[in-house]
Amino acid sequence: MSFLFRRQHLAFISRCRPFSSVGRADVDYFRTFLPTHAILTTLPNDSGSVAPAELDVYNRDWMGKYTGRATTVVKPRSTEEVSKIVRWCNEYDIAIVPQGGNTGLVGGSIPVNDELILSLANMNKVRSFDPVSGILITDAGCILQELTDYIAPHNHIMPIDLGAKGSCQIGGNVATNAGGLRLLRYGSLHGSVLGLEVVLADGTVLDQLTALRKDNTGYDIKQLFIGAEGTLGIVTGVSILTPAAPQASNNVVLALPHFDNVLPLYRKVKRSLSEILSAFEFIDRTAYDLAVKHGQGRGLSDEDVAGAQCFVLVETSGGRREHDEEKLNDLLAELLDAENPLILSGVLSQNPAQFSSLWALREGVTEAISKEGKAYKYDISIPLDKFKVVVDATREHLAERNLIGEHAVKHVMGYGHVGDGNLHLNICAAEYTQEIQDALEPFVYELVASYRGSISAEHGIGAAKTHALHYSKDEVSIELMRKLKALFDPRGILNPKKILE
Ligand SMILES: Cc1cc2nc3c(=O)[nH]c(=O)nc-3n(C[C@H](O)[C@H](O)[C@H](O)COP(=O)(O)OP(=O)(O)OC[C@H]3O[C@@H](n4cnc5c(N)ncnc54)[C@H](O)[C@@H]3O)c2cc1C
Repeated sequence: MSFLFRRQHLAFISRCRPFSSVGRADVDYFRTFLPTHAILTTLPNDSGSVAPAELDVYNRDWMGKYTGRATTVVKPRSTEEVSKIVRWCNEYDIAIVPQGGNTGLVGGSIPVNDELILSLANMNKVRSFDPVSGILITDAGCILQELTDYIAPHNHIMPIDLGAKGSCQIGGNVATNAGGLRLLRYGSLHGSVLGLEVVLADGTVLDQLTALRKDNTGYDIKQLFIGAEGTLGIVTGVSILTPAAPQASNNVVLALPHFDNVLPLYRKVKRSLSEILSAFEFIDRTAYDLAVKHGQGRGLSDEDVAGAQCFVLVETSGGRREHDEEKLNDLLAELLDAENPLILSGVLSQNPAQFSSLWALREGVTEAISKEGKAYKYDISIPLDKFKVVVDATREHLAERNLIGEHAVKHVMGYGHVGDGNLHLNICAAEYTQEIQDALEPFVYELVASYRGSISAEHGIGAAKTHALHYSKDEVSIELMRKLKALFDPRGILNPKKILE
């Protein structure tokens, strides 16, 4: 197909629908610079096409909730190849969905129609690491766990850690501004990302891949791409500050008789452990039982957890093992000896295997829920003292509508990052149904808004929450977001219908 014909064809299509579908001419063009294995297409093609089922892993999200209809996935190996693809798509009005590890929980990485999927999986090389400054410069498609393993021999750790670390990519982490388990200690990616390389909507490469800790030369443009979920540009390179690995890490899981004890416990733990406290995670009883049921990590004995309403996982990371262990043991003794103990029992990890096992209990909750049923996920920021109120109110609301039961909503639970004020409210049902969806929304959003909370603390807006953005952002902010989108992506080809409706 000649380019001229392609344009006429496009003019016809664009009258009928907002974007052009990927066609044979597009695939032929991609083949001029991408190897065969870097293009998966179901379109009939001289160079071969794949069965539709081969695209399922790209067209379906981690939860099995969102399904796209992409006919083609491209996997560029370099920034230059990303730029060529994006330039072409911008010219011919083809919408693109950037995709990292596809572990996002709000449908952001899945096409809403038949957009082209641009997978960063083949951009997986570390560009440089400086063991003195701890600055890592890497392709966006590197998997978080692999980066962790890469810098471990240099005694450094990644500033973020999350349950999906074996699959999620650093570019996806940046695009979602992922929080995770280390935010309490190392802060958000807005602080630790030092620079980015981004392919803009017209194919221009924005090179802000600096390794400077300080740079006050005008607007800090890279911040806009952190958490933009691929709607403003495609992140191809990341410069990130990695902290020195702690010399000693310990963790303990504590069983609490009442939720009311969580906040006094948090205060006490912060005071006693001060600089060595690195995580304070909350798991309610339902979430804990599900994690244990589905073999996620090791729990306490049945005797220890009898009567426990909830659990917290405390992690310490410090410079000297004896010092840290002494502090932790003192704290535990104080907690158990008190006249009105805040905890019922606790288990302290004794070796690296137990350390991982206790963490698996908390990190594995998301996976346990997905094994148990279909999850309605609300990732909210609310005042700490409202964690239980929100979970209970949601459960009661569903019960009033007769939606609790083995064939409807099986469990309502809360877990999350207490240190960051972030609760994962999860409703685990037998199936996704409109009735449950309608019962939950806008109920949950209105509840969150009544506490001036955020409807998305760390997972983003994606496709799941575009209609609810106004609960956490005022009209002025949303209007500015629209203007920024129009400025960065005038033709709207980058991840359409995500974040903004
Ligand atoms: C078991 C489990 C535990 C999780 N725990 C946490 C947690 O503790 N904290 C947390 O914040 N999240 C968590 N998540 C959610 C998810 O893992 C994160 O959002 C993660 O950062 C997504 O990375 P990814 O590479 O999989 O991105 P994807 O899912 O592929 O994409 C997510 C979004 O980013 C965009 N995107 C991806 N790569 C790029 C790129 N290079 N350039 C531009 N845009 C891009 C996509 O278009 C999409 O909008 C968890 C998920 C699972 C399954």
